[in-house]
Amino acid sequence: MSPAFDLLITGAHLATMTGDAPYGEIRDGALGISGERIAWVGAQRDLPRDASAHRRLDAHGAWATPGLVDCHTHLVYAGNRANEFEALLTGATYAEIAQAGGGIKATVGATRAASDEELVAASRPRLAALASEGVTTVEIKSGYGLDTANECRQLAAARRVAADVGVDVRTTLLAAHAVPAEFAGRPDDYIDLVCRETIPAAAGAGLADAVDAFCETIGFTPAQTRRVFAAALAHGLPVKLHADQLSDTGGAALAAEFDALSADHLEYTSEAGIAAMARAGTVAVLLPGAFYALRETRAPPVAALRARGVPMAVATDCNPGTSPATSLLLMLNMACTLFRLTPGEALAGVTRHAARALGINDRGTLAAGQRADIVLWDIASPAELCYRIGGNPGRGIVRAGRLSERREP
Ligand SMILES: [Zn+2]
Repeated sequence: MSPAFDLLITGAHLATMTGDAPYGEIRDGALGISGERIAWVGAQRDLPRDASAHRRLDAHGAWATPGLVDCHTHLVYAGNRANEFEALLTGATYAEIAQAGGGIKATVGATRAASDEELVAASRPRLAALASEGVTTVEIKSGYGLDTANECRQLAAARRVAADVGVDVRTTLLAAHAVPAEFAGRPDDYIDLVCRETIPAAAGAGLADAVDAFCETIGFTPAQTRRVFAAALAHGLPVKLHADQLSDTGGAALAAEFDALSADHLEYTSEAGIAAMARAGTVAVLLPGAFYALRETRAPPVAALRARGVPMAVATDCNPGTSPATSLLLMLNMACTLFRLTPGEALAGVTRHAARALGINDRGTLAAGQRADIVLWDIASPAELCYRIGGNPGRGIVRAGRLSERREP
């Protein structure tokens, strides 16, 4: 039977991100799309002669990649912290800024004070910036509400922003991000609230796809994190963890113990932590934007992660304090420059492995049956996406089978 596609893209080189070779290249390829799915992928010369299509697109030698997946963001919040950035650079200390109600406290205050409309309006340009660079799936965490109502409000806002911009979203409840002022000095009481009230509420309302926590000397202890994870699993939600960013608290191993989808940051993760992640199939999410902004000097153990075959993802960590980044393309460059990923690894980190970090297996590659999220780029080789600092060579984006943005070559 002759295939009939809704959309047929020809004249494209394909970075399918499948198989063992970097990029899974197919030169002079074609992509047939039916409905929301990719129906056919291959070399154009192998396309059935009698294939028909409702709509055709000649890519004129552009490269096609899977739609990009930003698998770690905190992009829904109100206000920003440019004032603190400036204060630090004009001589203030972190302690002085915290004393003056700055840091995460400032963002929690602004986020709680914002109406739903204001929260959505403040967040929309950030997601629109990511989307313009080919992000078709984004993860958005809560963590600036720090009470049940405001955490749920943030998750709902994340869904609304994503629908507005036309990006598919996975939401993550990060109520265990920091201890709110009402619970100052009583972190265990706050964790009680998170476990008894916030997780059940978010799960019950269908607002969260996963649960995350900040396990760190300045965050929550491994024991507190365990309680959060046990409550999440009891409510059917998979977990993720901010782990070993500033010190080795055994976060990666703890995440692996709970079969976490991902452990994120990992600058201080030990060999044992990496081995545990490898056994559990937990993805390592690397966040070069925060490493850069905090002027960290200890890079995550990329060589060891690579040696153990731990899948590595790369994300923006878009947040107002430590990574006010809205460019996943810039993160590709930073992952290569700062962390020494190969361009092939970095690109897998924002496609195939990023999807896996969200527990999604129907995207992140160009293969028959996958969701038709595709980006066309005016580049001569996939490595160019990682090589550039700034600029956007995107030419067209297909979101779930629909050609949503297009620029003439
Ligand atoms: Zn984060």
